[in-house]
Amino acid sequence: MSLLIKNARLVDGSGELGTADVLVAEGRIASLSGGDAARVVEAAGKVLTPALTDPHTHLRTPGQEVKEDLASGLRAAARGGYGAVLAMPNTEPALQEPEQVQALLDEARKISGAHLFAAAALTRDQAGERLTPAALLAQAGASLLTDDGHTNEDAGVLARGLIYAGAAGLPVAVHAEDAGLRGGGVMNDGRLAAELGLAGNPPEAEAARVARDLEVLRYAVRKLELLGRRPLLYFQHVSSARSVELIRAARAEGLPVCGEATPHHLTLSEDAWRDFDPLFKVAPPLRTTADVEALAGALEAGDLCAIGTDHAPHTRAEKERDLESAPFGIPSLEVAFALLYTELVAKRGLPLPVLIERMTSGPRRALGLGPARLEVGAPADLMLFDPGLERPVEPEKFVSKARYSPWAGWRLSGWPLLTLVAGKEVWRDAAVA
Ligand SMILES: [Zn+2]
Repeated sequence: MSLLIKNARLVDGSGELGTADVLVAEGRIASLSGGDAARVVEAAGKVLTPALTDPHTHLRTPGQEVKEDLASGLRAAARGGYGAVLAMPNTEPALQEPEQVQALLDEARKISGAHLFAAAALTRDQAGERLTPAALLAQAGASLLTDDGHTNEDAGVLARGLIYAGAAGLPVAVHAEDAGLRGGGVMNDGRLAAELGLAGNPPEAEAARVARDLEVLRYAVRKLELLGRRPLLYFQHVSSARSVELIRAARAEGLPVCGEATPHHLTLSEDAWRDFDPLFKVAPPLRTTADVEALAGALEAGDLCAIGTDHAPHTRAEKERDLESAPFGIPSLEVAFALLYTELVAKRGLPLPVLIERMTSGPRRALGLGPARLEVGAPADLMLFDPGLERPVEPEKFVSKARYSPWAGWRLSGWPLLTLVAGKEVWRDAAVA
């Protein structure tokens, strides 16, 4: 079905593109200067961008569908303006067989929601010891390899993983934390943890592992040069100023590395722990306001190349355990864009095209895909939002099974109103006639 989106302000990662009438037909952008369509959406005052890509989502399928399943997760993503998400493989069992990857991708195609990209485990059962078959997983459709949810303690295994994945054209993502230094830490290590009597997870646990992994990457680059290939190392959920410095220096040197920032590390600090609420318990932990500032600066400068939600749903009962035993994780697919639009663009003055770049082309580049552009002939993977529409965060209305949020009650603007994937509507807010 053809669709005409009239008078929309167009913004993609390359910049502001002016106002246009966008005609969508046969799954693509057919025209930027209007045309006949079966349906018309009046979009004056609204902003049309490429649909977002989330490089870090936990859909809990297979095995933990009580927390989230493919349908609830992919629909929640669509509601959040996402046209595609990369699902993490720390499922039960871990996603590590080529047949499992194919089956998951097949299942996702039946669901009207965001498109699914699948990440597969880097090592068997994510135990960090024996590598999974990178080339076969790539053939089966995996987009990236990672043991996220676990740390990679053995540098030799990670090095070989980067080499085999790189040879197969796949990036490797890591949860960079030194398990020994982290110990049993549940929140940021510092004065507040001491005051509250809680075990601290120091920023050095992350930075030490980032530093090591960059040396491992340097080795993998040297080895793969012989094959004419390059690995890509993707640091998930970077949380500390020191880690940002290390990644910035590595990028300046030309190492193939990308760092991710999450909505929670960009908008919340350890001070949230004063209420003793396990909703704020996340790994790596919320850090200091100085770290939050450093992450926002690095995101704008491009030292951090992508925003990943790390949408990590758990049941309400699990999250309401005590601080020591509650699981780590925050669900955020449905608030990420409005949150970052409000906090970074509207309040801090981050240019909108930069936010869009880090939520579309940035993650796509890390996955080896081309940039997302609003141009004739491009796939009609689109998101429409209203910068003037302010609403509170209402977790009870989430499509995700995880209906709680550390941002509950925050008044945000920029809510996604319409999400299209290949020209098909996967989310439409009641505010769109
Ligand atoms: Zn992680």
